[in-house]
Amino acid sequence: RAKQQQRGSSQYFSAAMGSDARERFKLLKGLRTGFEENQLFVVYQPQVDLDTGRVIGAEALLRWRTDEGRFIPPDQFIPLAEQSGLIIPIGEFVMRAACVQLKKMQALGHREFRMAVNISMAQFRHPGFIDMLARSMGDCSVIGENIELEITESMAMEDADLVLRVLADIKRLGFSVAIDDFGTGFSSLSQLRQLQVDRLKIDRAFVQEAQASSAGSTIAQMVVNLGHGLGLTVIAEGIETEEQRQYLIGLGCHEGQGWLFAKAMPAEELEAWMTR
Ligand code: C2E
Ligand code: MG
Ligand code: MG
Ligand code: MG
Repeated sequence: RAKQQQRGSSQYFSAAMGSDARERFKLLKGLRTGFEENQLFVVYQPQVDLDTGRVIGAEALLRWRTDEGRFIPPDQFIPLAEQSGLIIPIGEFVMRAACVQLKKMQALGHREFRMAVNISMAQFRHPGFIDMLARSMGDCSVIGENIELEITESMAMEDADLVLRVLADIKRLGFSVAIDDFGTGFSSLSQLRQLQVDRLKIDRAFVQEAQASSAGSTIAQMVVNLGHGLGLTVIAEGIETEEQRQYLIGLGCHEGQGWLFAKAMPAEELEAWMTR
């Protein structure tokens, strides 16, 4: 009986996979033409000093608006871009947009502004990645120090040798590096210590869990302490309430981003938002 049930569920699974695969193929085709037809653009979510509210930088986040005006979330199309290799030109597009915007923020007088850009494992694996970074930086004449590359914790664990090697090149170019979604990837302390990074980004899930349960608050406190113990700065993402802001400050975390401060916005809006 158990066997029958199992077979039943695996049949169901492969049927679902079939339509899923077709769906994904369609989406990938749409993404390819969408990219060519400039349907992709970058928005910026401010990062702030939690104590003063002062803006310290922004995270560049990719958006796709189809020509029917439909927004496809990055969680849906980024994995497709990664699997298909499209993330290589798309990633370069994001990096260039971020550098141009950083240059603009500096011209507006925000000298210390830091621009964070998400990077995929597929980009790390690409042999032209470091050249692409150097070119984007050089063409916009910005320096790496004001650009923070965000890699996920799980990425760092997936292929440690490769990641260590590429990180060394990245640091040589002067870029800052943050570990995104920290707390979700089960890295060990010793693995973490080897990585040349500057900042830990506490995952939204922990920010939301922090006040909800005592286990949640213990973990959040541990993540902050771990980061500081390793000599890193710690930033929290997904801060939605004033209580969360206060709570994080209490834990010793002094930087953050989230809807409490601002959602991601187009470049022009960011410039206006900064001067308000
Ligand atoms: P992420 O890098 O962890 O980005 C943070 C996500 O949290 C963003 O979702 C942001 O809009 C959302 N967020 C920010 N504040 C709040 C808040 O207060 N509450 C809630 N509920 N959410 C908040 P988004 O823009 O949908 O991006 C999702 C993920 O897609 C990103 O997670 C990142 O992993 C990936 N992604 C986005 N842009 C790029 C890109 O240019 N390249 C790559 N490789 N990945 C990207
Ligand atoms: Mg990120
Ligand atoms: Mg994140
Ligand atoms: Mg994420």
